[in-house]
Amino acid sequence: MDYARCGRSGLLLPRISLGLWHNFGDGDDPATMRAVLARAFDAGVTHFDLANNYGPGPGAAERNFGEILRGVLRGHRDEIVVSTKAGHEMWPGPYGDWGSRKSLVASLDQSLRRMGLDYVDIFYHHRPDPGTPLEETMGALSDLVRQGKALYVGISKYSAADTRRAAAILKANGTPLLVHQFRYSMLSRASEGDRLLDVLEEVGAGSVTFSPLAQGLLTARYLKGVPPDSRAAKNAFLKADSITPALRAKLNRLNDFAASRGFALPELALRWNLRDPRLTSVLVGASRVSQLEENLRALDRPPLSPADCDAIDAILADGGVDMV
Ligand code: NDP
Repeated sequence: MDYARCGRSGLLLPRISLGLWHNFGDGDDPATMRAVLARAFDAGVTHFDLANNYGPGPGAAERNFGEILRGVLRGHRDEIVVSTKAGHEMWPGPYGDWGSRKSLVASLDQSLRRMGLDYVDIFYHHRPDPGTPLEETMGALSDLVRQGKALYVGISKYSAADTRRAAAILKANGTPLLVHQFRYSMLSRASEGDRLLDVLEEVGAGSVTFSPLAQGLLTARYLKGVPPDSRAAKNAFLKADSITPALRAKLNRLNDFAASRGFALPELALRWNLRDPRLTSVLVGASRVSQLEENLRALDRPPLSPADCDAIDAILADGGVDMV
């Protein structure tokens, strides 16, 4: 595994990290969960990303992860970076959502209980809250570090401008912004227009991208249709009807290009994601061990050349929108 320094911090993160948004909920197979986490750890994936609401049901992923930490990963806590988040709807009423001090403090206490941990390594505010002063949200994050419940703090899905403000408040509080987590893939490039990586470099924060495979679109999964055991077949976070014929044609062209260069499509997608050295880690999901192994092979592939990136841009630009 390659490790990269997370911004101007002391923390190294694996270039590929594993997220537990899907595949670790009630109803998912415990043996598969254990096998995926054990294989990841054996391969040097030392960073596991959770959130209070990951499931289904909400909290289930943290509970299942805690059990596996006490089981097959027992004794390895100090070799593992655990991140969790609060900021999306988690429990009923006005305090189980967004970014008040009340909500963040209660949520992290719940997360620690569910996982059976004394502290998490990274605690994120999961999404910007237009209704709460940023000073309050960042103040709560800083206080949780001072209380020893989190070692570092992060933010997710903040604009570049809000990131700059958040980083300044955290710096004044004495708890620097460690990391920003945002969506980024060949099919989701909004962060480029916002110049987010420039701001992260300026404030000394690292970057973790989520859904780098566009929830599985940038793999062989949907090249011919929607398999019944796929995320799109569940029609929740990835809608089957968003995979239009035009999008499928584009995915097939990307797949052909990947094959012409000796890459599998997810290897190409992850190498493409990591082409900017300022990017600390990409956060993949996997519903089975073979997917994780295929994704990890991206790190054995050579970096993409500027000509490769131009060819990919040409495929992406051709035929219009269809971005997700
Ligand atoms: P990906 O884009 O990596 O999608 C993962 C899914 O794609 C898998 O569950 C699987 O779906 C499919 N897949 C993965 N690898 C392969 C492969 N090699 N071949 C075929 N199919 C494959 O990431 P996610 O969307 O899961 O997001 C990753 C993590 O990012 C999350 O777990 C979470 O930790 C974080 N995240 C953070 C957010 C935030 O707001 N901060 C929002 C979203 C995610 P299938 O079920 O079809 O097998």
